[in-house]
Amino acid sequence: MPKTQYNITAIPAFTDNYIWCIHNQTHAAVVDPGDALPVMEFLNNNKLILTDILITHHHHDHTGGISTLLDNNAELTVFGPQNERIKGITQRVAENDVVTIDSLGIAYSVLSVPGHTLDHIAFSNDTEVFCGDTLFSAGCGRMFEGTPEMFVHSLDKLANLPEETKVFCTHEYTLANLAFAKHVDASNNDLHEYANWAERQREEGLITLPSDIKTQKLINPFLRANDPKIQSFLQASGNLSIQDSVSCFASLRALKDNF
Ligand SMILES: [Zn+2]
Repeated sequence: MPKTQYNITAIPAFTDNYIWCIHNQTHAAVVDPGDALPVMEFLNNNKLILTDILITHHHHDHTGGISTLLDNNAELTVFGPQNERIKGITQRVAENDVVTIDSLGIAYSVLSVPGHTLDHIAFSNDTEVFCGDTLFSAGCGRMFEGTPEMFVHSLDKLANLPEETKVFCTHEYTLANLAFAKHVDASNNDLHEYANWAERQREEGLITLPSDIKTQKLINPFLRANDPKIQSFLQASGNLSIQDSVSCFASLRALKDNF
């Protein structure tokens, strides 16, 4: 069967959110519409019919637009986590469920990726993953509800996707994340090279996403918590309890929260 042709476009929202729109010439799905207005503008401007919404977790900047979009089209299918706090979900999904967007001919597997929140899920196929606030370029989400063990396990799941998988995260936090990454992983040449590229992108007003799993494994300290150089850096900074990737992750996350 020929592969379905579709594009994925970032719809900027709030100050640094991206609402990803998966679309062909006629139909569209959106991921984490925190605000309905920019989505409706994009759909109007491009003459697209919205058929599906994918939700990764309960935070308002990812869910705030659901009710207005449903008011405009009661036929929408809204896929999201098994969390009753999120209103408007029409199909609650969990790990290993398959989400099918019929209008686009696309299917995504659901991954459970708790850590940032307990209800957090990601949607992935062979070519892309929508990972919400779990994995960012050169960083990861704050640990609001989970434990370090949980978060490391979730990040491992994402790191084990095929290396060419494109990573669609929800925020443009790349430069701030890179400043921290360079602090804890100063001798990483891939990181410096990527940082130069990202700075140029932002200077030109361009976005830094999507990234890909291969790049993130090379440059993202939160995917490199088993790296002896990062562990040594943390130990030399006084974190003597670092023995494994979980304690290293916990130390990195705490350090980043106050960076
Ligand atoms: Zn969030």
